[in-house]
Amino acid sequence: MTINYPMEKGALSPRFRGEHALRRYATGDERCIACKLCEAICPAQAITIEAEVRADGARRTTRYDIDMTKCIYCGFCQEARRPSQDGGEGGGGGSRFHVRRELLYDKQKLLENGNKWETAIAANIASEHVYR
Ligand code: SF4
Repeated sequence: MTINYPMEKGALSPRFRGEHALRRYATGDERCIACKLCEAICPAQAITIEAEVRADGARRTTRYDIDMTKCIYCGFCQEARRPSQDGGEGGGGGSRFHVRRELLYDKQKLLENGNKWETAIAANIASEHVYR
């Protein structure tokens, strides 16, 4: 059957890797502790992270960029983030971009994606928990 994409969308697997996102705890604090494991494991070297220690002693990123023109959606960065489950790849799929700069994600964009997709990302992680 043909669907009228993008007005209609087919079902996506919980393992689908779509938009990158940075998640927050329920308190609103960022989950990412700037361990840089995702930056180290990325085979495309698409991730750039800078960090500093906050006044309360917690380490957080000051810069978190992903160059989506390099990303191959391998999901390694999501796997590396397991300790804090700070990141996710959720989203509705079918991302559309008009200019190259829209593919250069910064921390603000990633946190906005996290806010937007938190419910879906949390549900996907929970549904896949038994297989991990
Ligand atoms: S999905 Fe793979 S290529 Fe893309 S940013 Fe993550 S580790 Fe890098």
